[in-house]
Amino acid sequence: MYKFCPLFSGSSGNATYIGTEHEGVLIDAGKNCKAIKEALAATGVEPEAVKALFITHEHTDHCSGMRVFANKYKIPVYSSEATLTILDQMGHLNGDFPVYSISDYADIGDFHIECHKTSHDVVDPHCYSILLPNLKKVSVVTDTGIITEETMDGITGSETVLLESNHDTGMLASGPYPYFLKRRIMGAQGHLSNEDSAETSVKLLKSGTRNIILAHLSKENNFPELAYNTTFARLTMEGATLGEDYTLTVANRDEPTPTEV
Ligand SMILES: [Zn+2]
Ligand SMILES: [Zn+2]
Repeated sequence: MYKFCPLFSGSSGNATYIGTEHEGVLIDAGKNCKAIKEALAATGVEPEAVKALFITHEHTDHCSGMRVFANKYKIPVYSSEATLTILDQMGHLNGDFPVYSISDYADIGDFHIECHKTSHDVVDPHCYSILLPNLKKVSVVTDTGIITEETMDGITGSETVLLESNHDTGMLASGPYPYFLKRRIMGAQGHLSNEDSAETSVKLLKSGTRNIILAHLSKENNFPELAYNTTFARLTMEGATLGEDYTLTVANRDEPTPTEV
């Protein structure tokens, strides 16, 4: 069994550990080094077990802890060429750790990691799928305004998917955010809504996915129960039975949400 563990999730920081107690990879490092270390420890993983760090994009909630964490434990950092360039300009690569650009895949020990383009308002956003040594595929998909055909093709075949369910469209529309920000979040390069996440879950289940973990929930424009119920209701409408056909979880904002795959 492998741990698939969102350590924290949302606009105040994102990181997901995938692997065993001894070896694995981290997708994003959006809180400080101490917070990442403590969250890993809470799941029974020492920082030395992290063999590589994959960054999805340059927003602070995905990369704020990467420099100190990678430097302290000498962990190689992977991201797209364009993202690395901007991370460098932002000072995130100042340190003594290896940096590699990834354009399609990387092999870390027995883990095969693929990257797929997403749709977000940054220079070159990606999400990642990991093919585990037990031949199960898992994916981490957040910070995307829409699920493009390319993204869907990339994550198809995943048994477990951590999927953004950022906001309830009604709450966002009637909430306190300024108009420009509402437009940004709802746009094709913003964040995935509960409704979009529910539609994506239908497609994923049809393609063989069994575990959905809803993630990156907005504090202001969503509730865990609302995100859960939107996808649950949509999947029930499709005839899928919770527990039999699939599992559904909401990733905690500030603490690990351990699952096994
Ligand atoms: Zn984010
Ligand atoms: Zn972002």
